Amino acid sequence: MFFVFFQTIAQPLENPFVCGTDGSPSGPGGGPENPICTDPASVRYVRIAVHYLLREDTYVETITDNCNSAIPPYSFTYVGPGNFTETNDGVGNPGYNGFQHAENFVGIANEMLADNQDHWRKTPGVNYPATPPDINIQYLLVGVYFHRDDEAFQPTAGLNIHTKYDVGSNTVIDVYCLHYPGFGRDGEAFEFGGFNKFVFLNDYKHYLKPYCREWSKINTARSMNHEIGHTLNLIHTWSGLDNCNDTPEGFLYDHIDGVNCFPRRANCWTYDSSEPGCPKKPCDEWFKISNNIMDYNHWDPAWTECQIGRMNQNLLGNGNPYIHSCNGCAPSQAFFYVRSPQAVCPPQQGGSNVILNGQPSINENRYLIEICEVLANQPNNCIAGYFNSGWQIGALGNISLSTLYTFQANKVYRIKLTVDNTECPGSDVHEQLLYTTDDCTYPPPPCCFEMAATNPFGSNLTVYYNAPETGNLNLALINLTTSVTTTLYNSSAVTAGFYEQTFQVGQLPSGNYALRAIFNGGIYTKNIVKL
Ligand SMILES: [Zn+2]
Repeated sequence: MFFVFFQTIAQPLENPFVCGTDGSPSGPGGGPENPICTDPASVRYVRIAVHYLLREDTYVETITDNCNSAIPPYSFTYVGPGNFTETNDGVGNPGYNGFQHAENFVGIANEMLADNQDHWRKTPGVNYPATPPDINIQYLLVGVYFHRDDEAFQPTAGLNIHTKYDVGSNTVIDVYCLHYPGFGRDGEAFEFGGFNKFVFLNDYKHYLKPYCREWSKINTARSMNHEIGHTLNLIHTWSGLDNCNDTPEGFLYDHIDGVNCFPRRANCWTYDSSEPGCPKKPCDEWFKISNNIMDYNHWDPAWTECQIGRMNQNLLGNGNPYIHSCNGCAPSQAFFYVRSPQAVCPPQQGGSNVILNGQPSINENRYLIEICEVLANQPNNCIAGYFNSGWQIGALGNISLSTLYTFQANKVYRIKLTVDNTECPGSDVHEQLLYTTDDCTYPPPPCCFEMAATNPFGSNLTVYYNAPETGNLNLALINLTTSVTTTLYNSSAVTAGFYEQTFQVGQLPSGNYALRAIFNGGIYTKNIVKL
């Protein structure tokens, strides 16, 4: 899907590109330190930021997994955040979080661009190159963000969401990943006169299905290439209105609309001889099938010479500020996550373990961490406790800052990361403030247990939960007026999985309750009301 807000530009005669940007000094990660490239064949790095949109509360949905043709479709009740988070994949796996996912699917999308495929459906009379034309465009992931915002799931949210969370204005393409079953499409792209490029990917629905999970990562990469293609001036090809002669329109077939036949352009995304026609079927022969990135298809995608020319033309014009660098090497990008605020506690209360997650930094082969204490209103001035790690060799992953530095409660710290790719000049810096507290009453829960319940409830209370591992579970209702505790469920051997349990609670008085789960020592509560 695409909203057209640009002036249509005719098919370019060639693939003009003059490489001369030094990156925008105003954009995050951009800067005058980036060398100006002179070789038009060198790769241009286009900045993108990935945003995960999450609901404010735990999300419950009935999921039907129909992804494995060897087994019948089955359903389960999903309970979780409804998207990737800072620490897990939203289905209970802490080994694959939103930072890793972003880096993964952006990497797959880059591989698709770097490995352009032969275009299957060719226009008669048009000359095609002997080998697929090169695409000298790569994405540079400059940030990964998480937003818990119910407004993101309103049908009209698109522009509001972008206004709220836009990164780097007209220098970064914002990619918003959301899970919104009411939104019919897999993606949507926006651009306004070549500026203000952003896309939505409604892709988590595939990841939620266990048998689609691995495939969904490739699908996300393909969808992103399609939607970003729209922001770079590409149009769906099957209707024949994309201003490119080398992308033939879809096969004209006889479409059946209930009883009537009428001709329609087929968008054959896969071979399917069962699709009816009267008598011409749409997708029953391989020559009708497309692998073009701007059709809907599930093949390794192809971009034609004309399409590459249109993208280059866009990046020469108003798209140019999105180019970070084009000096033929992969620039490093600093980005990390430290949870803030967080409690610094005495050893007997768990102590402190401040983890810096450096997974979202990319292309670095050395890094340097600086920490110092600051005042909240003067974050640029170190007032005490300056620490410098010195240059560390390798890529940055998870680091326990507490082993490097003694944090104290009720202070503000500035954490500064500098990364470098010694093969590609120009360092990059990312900073974050860490607010510490002494509130050790509620240590952070262990990863991934999730719970929801009917609210308000009557004589039946249905509780939904996701146990990420086997463990002890105690579920109880606590009357907030009388403090009377009613145990609902107690088990020492709940196995990992999604659960839905209904309890008869008609005997309890009306009022405000806390639903409390204790799972493997972690305490989780939700306030709910009995009518
Ligand atoms: Zn589209």
